[in-house]
Amino acid sequence: MLNPSLTLCFPDRQKSCFACCPPIRPAGYEHLQHKNINKRILRENTAAFVSEERTIVPITGFSCWALGYVDENYRLVGCLLHPSQNDGLDLRYRVNYATKCQRESCREAQTFSELALSVKRFWLHLADGLDSFSYSSQTTNFLFRMIDWGTHLLNVISVIRSNRIYTTKSFLTVFPFFSTSLSPRAHAYLLNRLIKAENVHLLKSSLFRAEFEHLAASLAGEIAQNQVLQPDGTPVHRLSLDRDFLDYLRLSLDVRRMNEQEAMITKEEVDERIEKWRRALANLPSNSCSQSGTRVSKES
Ligand code: SF4
Ligand code: SF4
Repeated sequence: MLNPSLTLCFPDRQKSCFACCPPIRPAGYEHLQHKNINKRILRENTAAFVSEERTIVPITGFSCWALGYVDENYRLVGCLLHPSQNDGLDLRYRVNYATKCQRESCREAQTFSELALSVKRFWLHLADGLDSFSYSSQTTNFLFRMIDWGTHLLNVISVIRSNRIYTTKSFLTVFPFFSTSLSPRAHAYLLNRLIKAENVHLLKSSLFRAEFEHLAASLAGEIAQNQVLQPDGTPVHRLSLDRDFLDYLRLSLDVRRMNEQEAMITKEEVDERIEKWRRALANLPSNSCSQSGTRVSKES
């Protein structure tokens, strides 16, 4: 059952996310580095806010005057102009980024909204104990990183472990695969094609992690070698193919433009390779992908 009211932005009464406010911050901005100053600014914004006021006051710099505390305990950080704070009235027109504010939703929030309620609850435990500042940080909130592996993997793991509660620490102890330094978005396509309910136990093996990293790197190297540059091709994000595959092309193979037919041929090549890995991995005992010293890639 989907539950639109349980969002990644406001998961409970202990914390909220404000990472995209205002939506003009430079990439890599980390508000945790300025926590004390930001706390003071949030308190000042909250105290200065007058809900009856209707004047337009543009945002200046990387801070928004309408970002403040939205609960009496000063735990939840949110937009003071949002309809939920103003009896249904949307006052976000009062800043000059109103349209951007209204449509802003990060990739992780979108993916999270596609999960069933029980799956959302399962994964939210990874963020237990975080306050709004840590929760809004991509550095300290592992949940965001986990969500980038995509709905298939989130569903498969939560279904087989639905009776457990994992904090980030206990989750990584059971599933050391996810300690990988590989970018989830760049590799979600490979992992989601490779891992199904019957072989999800592989994710409990750090040996599988090393194997996967090796396979991903060698596949990327091979494809890059055969790649013909297509400066007149379609920008990759506009191709009508699986979103995870387009991320793989862009973020893992560094392909910016490609024509549709070439992209489909590359996809077939990648799919074929993953299928070979899957068959080879099926013959390996759980938790021992490389213990014999034999790499799957040699067989594929
Ligand atoms: S107006 Fe609201 S949504 Fe827009 S940046 Fe400010 S706090 Fe965020
Ligand atoms: S960064 Fe994502 S999760 Fe955080 S407030 Fe913005 S849309 Fe919500």
